[in-house]
Amino acid sequence: MNLNGKTALVTGSTSGIGLGIAQSLAQAGASVVLNGFGDVAPARALLAASGGRHGYHDADLRDVSQIEAMMRYTQDAFGGVDIVVNNAGIQHLAEVEHFPVAKWDDILAINLSSAFHTSRLALAQMKARNWGRIINIASVHGLVGSKEKAAYVAAKHGLVGLTKVIALETAQTGVTCNALCPGWVLTPLVQQQIDRRITAGDDPQQARDDLLAEKQPSRQFVTPEQLGSLTLFLCSEAGEQVRGVAWNMDGGWVAQ
Ligand code: NAD
Repeated sequence: MNLNGKTALVTGSTSGIGLGIAQSLAQAGASVVLNGFGDVAPARALLAASGGRHGYHDADLRDVSQIEAMMRYTQDAFGGVDIVVNNAGIQHLAEVEHFPVAKWDDILAINLSSAFHTSRLALAQMKARNWGRIINIASVHGLVGSKEKAAYVAAKHGLVGLTKVIALETAQTGVTCNALCPGWVLTPLVQQQIDRRITAGDDPQQARDDLLAEKQPSRQFVTPEQLGSLTLFLCSEAGEQVRGVAWNMDGGWVAQ
């Protein structure tokens, strides 16, 4: 896999799945633009060790003008973007009648609308070069529901829909758009849900085992590295006719 000369933007890549995908892309030779909150230094160090060129933009994806600034940065510093991985996402658990309105708005903005904005701003240059990859990190929750996750499930189903439309609009070009639908991956986002069980009385190992046992038949976490490898496949020539799919990597979750 050789992505030398390509530039990838991975949103929400300071931790978890985004960081794993950013690392895979960098190891394949792509220049990578990181984005996200928290301590950026460890992510930058990992990318530096992977060899390629990288940058960072601190856009808060709830704000359209900051997304526009991030896309201008990829243009000014890297000459544009060839691969967009829309990965940033947050979660909040509550039943619909108690769901905080501000959390609903944030989840829709970060998990769904930001992918529309990065895509609308990247597509013209991708089409002009006749090569591009838009990879949306949806979730099994883009395919099935779970209680207490109204905003997340709505956003991820929306992201799968957006993926299909972009795939159709680019079908006769060298640009592809697909969604990945992971099951449980052990990242800070999922650790919050394990911590909730620990607070309710489970011991830490029991909390992890129960979380997996309820939904994921393999009873093993999917890893960011595995999702990174699937991303590289979609960027390869073999992935060129994979268009508009919602590809689950979920230990059998949605096979049930
Ligand atoms: P994570 O919490 O480790 O990473 C989320 C990233 O998004 C971080 O870099 C964070 O800084 C960034 N982020 C949050 N709010 C932001 C904002 N307003 N602007 C910019 N960046 C922001 O979570 P993760 O588990 O790695 O999740 C990554 C993606 O994978 C999410 O879209 C999530 O829905 C999806 N996903 C995760 C799992 C899982 O089991 N962990 C399963 C399926 C799908």
